[in-house]
Amino acid sequence: MNAASARTIADALTAIVGPQACLTSAADTQLFATDYRRLYHGKAVAVVLPSTTEEVSRVMAWCYQHDVPVVPQGGNTSLMGGAVPDDTGKAVIISLSRMNKVLAADTINDTLTLQAGVTLSAARSAAEAAGRLFPLRIGSEGSCQIGGNLATNAGGTAVLRYGNMRDLVLGIEAVLPDGRVMSALRGLRKDNTGFDLKQLFVGSEGTLGIITAAVLKLMPLPRSSSVAFVAVESPEAAVKLLGEAKQAAGQSVSGFELISGPALELVLDYLGGMASPLAQRHDWMVLIELTSGGQQDALEQTMVQLLEAGLEAGLVLDAAVASSVADAQAFWRIREEISDAQTRTGGSIKCDVSVPLSRIAAFIGDATANVLQLEPRTRMVIYGHMGDGNVHFNPLRPKDQSAAEFLGAHYQAISTVVDGLAHAEGGSISAEHGIGVAKRDDLVHYKSSVELELMWQVKRALDPKNLLNPGKLLPAQHHAPSTGSGLHQASDLP
Ligand SMILES: Cc1cc2nc3c(=O)[nH]c(=O)nc-3n(C[C@H](O)[C@H](O)[C@H](O)COP(=O)(O)OP(=O)(O)OC[C@H]3O[C@@H](n4cnc5c(N)ncnc54)[C@H](O)[C@@H]3O)c2cc1C
Repeated sequence: MNAASARTIADALTAIVGPQACLTSAADTQLFATDYRRLYHGKAVAVVLPSTTEEVSRVMAWCYQHDVPVVPQGGNTSLMGGAVPDDTGKAVIISLSRMNKVLAADTINDTLTLQAGVTLSAARSAAEAAGRLFPLRIGSEGSCQIGGNLATNAGGTAVLRYGNMRDLVLGIEAVLPDGRVMSALRGLRKDNTGFDLKQLFVGSEGTLGIITAAVLKLMPLPRSSSVAFVAVESPEAAVKLLGEAKQAAGQSVSGFELISGPALELVLDYLGGMASPLAQRHDWMVLIELTSGGQQDALEQTMVQLLEAGLEAGLVLDAAVASSVADAQAFWRIREEISDAQTRTGGSIKCDVSVPLSRIAAFIGDATANVLQLEPRTRMVIYGHMGDGNVHFNPLRPKDQSAAEFLGAHYQAISTVVDGLAHAEGGSISAEHGIGVAKRDDLVHYKSSVELELMWQVKRALDPKNLLNPGKLLPAQHHAPSTGSGLHQASDLP
């Protein structure tokens, strides 16, 4: 089929969603076609903002019939360039932003049913209004959406206790590339009726279907919480302290975040006016959070005992325990703003890796030595969800070097060495941010050819024309898609 003209596409999609919800001018579409970090600048023939699953289905069916590529977009907070199109200007972006209704909170089944465009913070608020917790917690919660969280299998700071998005979803409704709707919006904790199809869409980064609604698990709201900002001797000491915390507090350990000295300095500079919770500078710190349904006094005592034992054992060098909710929020703010501080500073090489906890200290040591050998003045911004074996290992340009200079000289070498070391330790090159465009071609080095073949086979089964988010996640070199549609794999973004 000949490619439809921009005019035909605009008219057809406007007829489905209405003129207000089909944007075609460059001024309107450009914002959606540029990623959060302003690294990927694509072009879209149109941006459509459907408000119902039926509209999504009709848009998808029309695009499928006319061989028009489609890029699903949630809050556009992907750090991997996953939610923006290439620069050919052929793709339609489907933004889920108007599908933002919370449909039901069931406090007996402990489930929340919502449209996929509900932001994470709105989902958390809806859960809280129902007297429950929806535990996913990530720095972009004000913008990212539940559909995007599912499509990326988002993790964040509470995975240690509650799991990632894959663990938090019970049901999904998704529109397939040809417009059919797969409705599996069930709130069941047991359902052994064959393949768990909803999980195919979790972590699929918008390549298999558009998630339009979901049923999420709710948890009891914790009644007590204790947060401490702790200086530790080394990453190895942090791992030991985590082990002690799990022994002392079990399931109550809900957050255990590592922060390197340069990461703290960067964020304090960025926030201005905020001081470190600790009197002296340290190379390594951890943020520990305990939460429980029990008494506040008891939990605080557990935290103090843990830290005292850590001091005696030489694991802990200093600690500040939050004495109020405001303190605890300030501690968390330091951790959560690190990502934005890097984005605003520019010139950081983001490696979101995971390794088995038993290897994490060795990995950090080796990777740091390798990076400093390449550029000794690099600021070692290392932080993240240590409790899950997940480190954001993000070397940052020296203060007196421009981002372009640093990235130009070292991006490739540093990414390759860090990912290679993580892989050698039995780890993953993407713990939670996904693959998108940024890491797509690297996958061939780190996944077996059988795994890659299976991924392509699943992709072809659901999207035989390779129209949905083409050029993302699946490395083209491994298996060129058999489209038969005359549509080519989206070209590489810069
Ligand atoms: C400051 C900051 C902090 C962050 N912290 C974390 C963190 O701690 N943990 C973490 O895991 N991530 C983190 N991220 C990354 C990002 O926020 C997550 O990947 C998030 O889940 C993306 O959601 P989104 O709605 O913005 O999706 P988008 O960025 O819009 O899209 C991401 C991918 O999902 C696809 N997609 C989006 N919506 C749908 C849908 N409805 N159906 C099908 N596919 C869809 C897109 O095509 C794309 O491939 C952070 C990002 C920022 C900017």
